[in-house]
This record gives sequence, C-alpha cells and structure tokens, in this order.
Amino acid sequence: MKIFNPANGELIAEVADDDATSVAAKAAAARAAQPAWAAVPMAQRLAAVQRFRASVVRELDTLAATLTREVGKPIAQARNELNGLLPRLDFFLEQAEAAVREEQVFSGGGMQEQITHVPLGVVANISAWNYPWFVGCNVIVPALLTGNAVLYKPSECATLTGQAITRLLHEAGVPREVMQCLVGGGEVGAALLAQRIDGLFFTGSHATGRRIAHALAGRLVKLQLELGGKDPTYVRADADPKVAAESLADGAMYNTGQSCCSVERIYVHEAVHDDFVRHFLATVATFKVGDPADPGTYIGAITRAPQLEVLEDQVQDAVAKGATLHGGGTRLPGPGNHFPPTVLTHVDHRMEVMREESFGPVIGIQKVKGDDEAVALMNDTRYGLTAGVYTKDEAAARALLARVNAGTVYWNCCDRVSPRLPWSGVGDSGIGLTLGVAGIQTFTRPKAWHLRSP
Ligand code: NAD
Repeated sequence: MKIFNPANGELIAEVADDDATSVAAKAAAARAAQPAWAAVPMAQRLAAVQRFRASVVRELDTLAATLTREVGKPIAQARNELNGLLPRLDFFLEQAEAAVREEQVFSGGGMQEQITHVPLGVVANISAWNYPWFVGCNVIVPALLTGNAVLYKPSECATLTGQAITRLLHEAGVPREVMQCLVGGGEVGAALLAQRIDGLFFTGSHATGRRIAHALAGRLVKLQLELGGKDPTYVRADADPKVAAESLADGAMYNTGQSCCSVERIYVHEAVHDDFVRHFLATVATFKVGDPADPGTYIGAITRAPQLEVLEDQVQDAVAKGATLHGGGTRLPGPGNHFPPTVLTHVDHRMEVMREESFGPVIGIQKVKGDDEAVALMNDTRYGLTAGVYTKDEAAARALLARVNAGTVYWNCCDRVSPRLPWSGVGDSGIGLTLGVAGIQTFTRPKAWHLRSP
C-alpha cells in the first residue's frame, strides 16, 4: 500500500498490506494467545502500558512528525495530540485495576453474591485517522489492560501511526500475538469482521458504521460505534460575543475542522449576532493556512481528497439557498488537499451545511430569537455527539443543556474530551462509549457468582 502526504501529494512510504488470509492467521493467533494474556497479573499489564507511555514521551518528536506527514495535521497540533494522550494513559493506569476488581454485592444467610469482570476475549478495533492516537488508544489500552487480545485496523490514512502504536506496545512487553496491526483499507476491515471476534469497536463515519452493523447483525458480537456529528453551539444574548467567538472559531477550525466534536453549527442570539460574527471573522483571519510541517500553521491539509468536493458542494448549496459567504468556499490550488477557513451566515436548516457533517474548516452561523428556537434547532438533527451553550447564567445553561439530545454537553467551552468522562453519541452519532470508568469496563463482561456455603 502506498502512503501519500495529503499536504503535497508526495509518496512517503510503501507498506505491505494484509489480505483475507493474513487477517485470518492474525485472528487465530490472537485467539490462541488471549487466555495467557488474561492470566498475566494486572500489575504486569500496567507496567507494560507504563513503558509504552515512556516510549511515547521519548519518541514524541518523531511520532508527531509522522502524524503530520501522513495525516496533514499541523505539527503543533500533532504534538498536542501526543501530549494529550498522556493524561488519558494516566487515567487508564490509575483506574484499570479498580474498574475490574471483584465485587462482593451481598453476603448473608450462608449466601454470597459476587461480580467479576472478565475480558471479552478477542476485540477488533477499526479506527479513524483524524485523531489516530486518541481513538486508537481509547480502545487498545483499556482492552489490553483488562486482558483482551486486540486486532487493530488503523485507518489507511494513518497506517504509519497505527504501526508505531503497535511497535511501541510490543517493545513495552505486550506479546505480538496479543496486539496485532492489520494494514489496509475497507476490504481489510471487512475481512476482519468475518473473523471470530468477541467485540467490535469502531470509530469512523456513520456510513461505514451502518455497514459494519449490518455485517455483524446476525452474529451477537458486542458492537460499539463512535460516529460523526453535526455539533451545535448556542451563544445566548448575555454571552460576551468576543470571548465566545474566539473560543468557537477554534472549536470549529482546530484540526482543520476534522474533529468528531468540531463545532459544526452555531446559533447566535440576534442581540449579539453581528458583534459575534465580526469577532469570529477577525479570529479566523489570524489562522495561518499552509504547510502542516510549519510550526506556525493552524489550518493544515484536508486528509482525504474526496472531502474537498463535499465541502465545496455544501458551500454552493448554502449560497444557492441564500447564505452569505465570507471568504473561502473553494479548494486552494495544489499540490495537496487544502481548503481555506470558510464562514457562512444567513444560513438555515434547508442547507446541507447545517444538516450534514462538514468535517472541514467550514462553519454556518445562524441568527436566533431566543432559547426555545435555539434548542429546537440544536435538536433538529439525526446526530447527537456534543452540544454547547455560551452564557453567563449557569442555571440557564444547565436547564438548556438538559433539553439537548447529545452524549456530551458544554457550558462556555467546546471541542473538549476528558478521560474521566464517558464519550458517547446519541442517534446516528453511535452506540456504546469509551473513556471514563465505564470505558474500561466496556471491554469486559460482568460475571455473576451465587455462592452458597455448604
Ligand atoms: P471511515 O468510515 O471512512 O473509516 C473508518 C475506518 O473504517 C477505516 O479504518 C476504514 O478503513 C474502515 N472501513 C471502511 N469501510 C469498511 C468496511 N466495509 N468494513 C470494515 N471497515 C471499513 O471514517 P474516517 O474517514 O476514517 O473517519 C472520519 C469519521 O470518523 C468522521 O465522521 C468523524 O466524525 C468520525 N469520528 C468519530 C469519533 C467519535 O469519537 N465519535 C472520533 C473520531 C472520528
């Protein structure tokens, strides 16, 4: 498989990819090796993840450069992703043992009731490219810590990073059969689904998620799908328009807008709308577009070339239906895949840009008259990953966010993930969760023990 730099089209590597036969062999080896790994004391598994963490720190510069070259992520943001991985690893290291500790839930009359948390067995992880360290390790690390073997299919757009994660885990002491990397695109993912697996943990688009759910439908395999979103934020009349605009411009455009929890729709109260738009455009004007390897770059490459057309189509559809375009709107001349920050106002829900995931540096800003209209519009979506509100009034924020259908809600912040909180979606944003204590337990199943003393 050839790997190209999306920022300039250059060939950066050629790697051997898997096929149905090698996928089957890796799955069989993982199945055979898993019981021994589950029998390894937790302390040893924790020590392996500690060593993995140390290697990430040691190799951070090279790993960030690889991520930038293959995904087109600005180098400063690639480093942020790797640095942001460390507290996630620390959370797993601190919580794993307690999360799966045996529980005594009843004792009396000669009867004991206990729960143990046993590994699922062999889990498959089919992963996305936009935050490959985050979305990969959200699954791989707790799955390994809880005694599973992992068949990991990184995105074909983040293969080198996927191979690096795998190598570092092997060097840290995780047996090769227990942690396996499968290289290739959708067909390798499909071959993985055909194997005997005990859980499928997917991060990616809604379209692929649905296909995977169909493929596994008759199989009774535990399924988690972390999919896309169309995440809304509402700026209330009492919010500071400058503070909100600066925060939301970053939330919409960071990672070149290619985040699952990017701000994708903004509703602004009419009292502050014009001020907000002015500050938003001023902030966006400071975002440097260009070579992701340049430390000053804020907007890097669009990783997958077909997305350029999606973005252009959304902009054209919006403008044709009456939106105002404030700069940008079409791809930049090559080489590489580049799209400038693009802001649309006078938008409404007839437009694709307010309904379907953009996954790029494109944002629609819609004027609203008040809270009820904002909540109705925020909930007018088939997705539900995150949603937020900017206001000085905490009680109003809490009341409003309680009415919004989303897995994660934000007050005066956005585009934020915490290892301590569960990460999940509502509706077409997916099923299941990662992170938080529940995101460790999800790689196990509770086994119920009824024990009567003789
Ligand atoms: P994608 O759906 O194109 O690909 C995801 C993975 O599925 C890749 O590894 C791909 O090779 C594999 N795949 C493709 N076809 C397959 C098939 N038929 N069978 C099995 N596997 C197959 O998504 P992407 O472009 O890599 O990622 C972007 C999407 O991911 C966006 O929608 C984004 O919002 C979403 N995402 C969600 C989260 C979250 O936590 N909810 C996090 C990151 C990204």
